Amino acid sequence: MTIKYFLCLILICVCANSYGNALHTQLIDDLNHLASNPLMGRKTATEGAANTRAYLHSRLSKFNLNVSEQTFTYKSGIFEHAQGINIIAVPTKSTQRKKIIITAHYDHLGKRGGKYYFGANDNATGVAALLYLASSLQNKEFPYELVFVLTDAEENGLHGSKHFAQTLNSNNVLMNINLDMLGVKKHKSRVYALTSYSLKQKLKPVFTALNNTKITIKPVYSSKQMNRLIKSQNIDWHKASDHYSFAQNNIPYVYFGMGHDPHHHTTKDTVQHIDIPKYVSTVLAIEGFIKQLAHHHYDDLNAET
Ligand SMILES: [Zn+2]
Repeated sequence: MTIKYFLCLILICVCANSYGNALHTQLIDDLNHLASNPLMGRKTATEGAANTRAYLHSRLSKFNLNVSEQTFTYKSGIFEHAQGINIIAVPTKSTQRKKIIITAHYDHLGKRGGKYYFGANDNATGVAALLYLASSLQNKEFPYELVFVLTDAEENGLHGSKHFAQTLNSNNVLMNINLDMLGVKKHKSRVYALTSYSLKQKLKPVFTALNNTKITIKPVYSSKQMNRLIKSQNIDWHKASDHYSFAQNNIPYVYFGMGHDPHHHTTKDTVQHIDIPKYVSTVLAIEGFIKQLAHHHYDDLNAET
């Protein structure tokens, strides 16, 4: 190895490392901003939701993606209807490849009893993770197409994802990857991947190949098993977030989450209660999962069962 080549190698390593670090810094900046005062708890159809969308547009516009809004209405009472807005980001050059739909809901509870519910874990963590993935994977060649969807009105009935999933042709979609509540402070360094049973055999080798040292992805194949593992009460994890809307439209899913959060839907769901290093490792583990899908096992995944 010549000295010139050696110096070049060091320079490449330093650049790659600082690029990685810049992405991590941005991830934390996004998390902090999404759970901050100006976004007012991100409640559907409020000023806070509009502020959130403005922020998400400004972030997504920096990537090599086409960004659009999808407006929908849903029943919000016996006679009332309400409106929500999803944000969809697709590659600028569309392919004929099957899609993987990555989702995270950006809405939360807004203001109640004069207090803001910032929803840092639920679900600023998922939204910031989605922005990170959109940034880090935007120019990568995959045998599938990644579509990023930030859904609205999840908290009051999965309405945004329900609307979006109904617009899809399920034959063109490989799976939904849903991100919701990725930052619970807890003892175990583990993120759960609640996975449709139909994907079990296909994804087994993918999960096995992942050996991220800092955080373990634990595949789970039923809500019952999830409750047992996290010692939670009878939470129906299958229906607990946007992945359920995809399941209802015959699209299998992998839902990433850290499990039960004692601060869920309280004013204590703030960034202070998030274990930041663990959160960053979790997002990197999910990125590793998406890359792993492409590198080794796409043919298995795409095969008809
Ligand atoms: Zn949520």
